[in-house]
Amino acid sequence: MKNIVIVGGGAGGAMLANRLPSDEFSVTLIDKEGYNYYLPWLLYTAFKGSRRNIKMDLQRLIKPGVKLIKSSATAINLNDRWVELSDGRRLGYDYLVIATGASVDYSKINGLRDVVAKYGSYYSTEDEALRVWRTLNSIKEGTIAIVVADPKHRCPPSPMEGAFLAEEFIRTRGLRDKVKIVFATPYPRPYPAEPMNEVVEPIMRERGIDIIDFFTVDYVEPDKQVIRSLEGDELKYDAAIIVPPHVGVGIKYGPEDVVDEDGFVLADKFTNKVKGFDDAFVIGDASALPVAKTGVTAHLQAGVVARILMGEDAKNTGRTNCPFDLGYGLGTFVIGDYYSPVVKYPPNKVNHLMKMAFASIYWDMIRHPELWDPIFDAFFEATNPSTLKGIYG
Ligand SMILES: Cc1cc2nc3c(=O)[nH]c(=O)nc-3n(C[C@H](O)[C@H](O)[C@H](O)COP(=O)(O)OP(=O)(O)OC[C@H]3O[C@@H](n4cnc5c(N)ncnc54)[C@H](O)[C@@H]3O)c2cc1C
Repeated sequence: MKNIVIVGGGAGGAMLANRLPSDEFSVTLIDKEGYNYYLPWLLYTAFKGSRRNIKMDLQRLIKPGVKLIKSSATAINLNDRWVELSDGRRLGYDYLVIATGASVDYSKINGLRDVVAKYGSYYSTEDEALRVWRTLNSIKEGTIAIVVADPKHRCPPSPMEGAFLAEEFIRTRGLRDKVKIVFATPYPRPYPAEPMNEVVEPIMRERGIDIIDFFTVDYVEPDKQVIRSLEGDELKYDAAIIVPPHVGVGIKYGPEDVVDEDGFVLADKFTNKVKGFDDAFVIGDASALPVAKTGVTAHLQAGVVARILMGEDAKNTGRTNCPFDLGYGLGTFVIGDYYSPVVKYPPNKVNHLMKMAFASIYWDMIRHPELWDPIFDAFFEATNPSTLKGIYG
């Protein structure tokens, strides 16, 4: 029996735990919350006021045979092969998988904590997302600024999704001529990948959303309601919803140089092996890999790591397939991999319905990978970026 320790029971960790056969692996899953959160729904908590449940007891989600420890990992020593828990216990392992996700860091930008406290954020908790909903309901006139503070954040489409859904909601409230929506980003264009930007920027312009590019947030002056950029510009707001900088979760690593300056774990982009180690992997948002921090990425990486642990020569392709809500029931997908740039995938209503349907099957997919894998394999094959590129460019 191989002794596998997985730290983090989110999208990637829970999915991996359920994929490892119990006759070959003794699996221990450590999670500080004991719950699995469906974070993508925070978008709809914030911009539609949805109260749909986003948390599931991990014990109900994992297969019999997987041992769950509800505790926080505080230190990981990769040389001596142990994980230390907050109560001081140390667990040894044959193989380790780090799946601790990312966390938000409001301290990186002066004034950001006050802005989140006042207007909310849709990148952390349900309470903060509901504060965004209250902000959208209380504004009567002025400027709502939706601002990307740092390129390192979960789910690349989510900032623009917020702007699209805010615009839709303000229009349905009959306030579109009184409330301006501004989208500010440090990138040279609203969506970082150019082909996808060619699809979505025209829609943003058609809807009258103002775009400010090359705007790198320096600090916020909450009392003056101004965001200042490193480029020397200022953005005045009546409500500001700022996509916060994301960092690693603050575990102490030995050796220290396996994490980057923000605490994300360095790894091989094909195998997800932690830099310099054959018996430790990192999947999902916790890694410093040049891939989108999305649940789809975590899902696919979990599959690759499971196959490597089972002795296969599996390789990660860097594939992403992230759904993108454009408001008014329209959606597209951000589809690309290491070999093909992102596709100009045209928006339609079916794409949006797929995003909604995915929310309904998410936990079932984690619980029963053997049932859902063939369906996802067929979907990923049908939406292969190199094939789609020939059709859509
Ligand atoms: C608004 C929003 C919209 C999004 N939309 C989409 C979308 O449409 N499609 C998509 O694919 N993705 C989307 N995402 C991104 C997606 O939610 C994440 O990429 C995904 O959850 C990453 O999975 P993960 O397993 O790496 O981390 P997580 O799901 O964050 O799980 C990490 C787990 O680790 C645990 N943990 C953390 N630290 C410790 C510790 N020290 N000890 C023990 N346990 C620990 C946590 O409790 C948590 O359970 C969205 C995210 C947001 C915020």
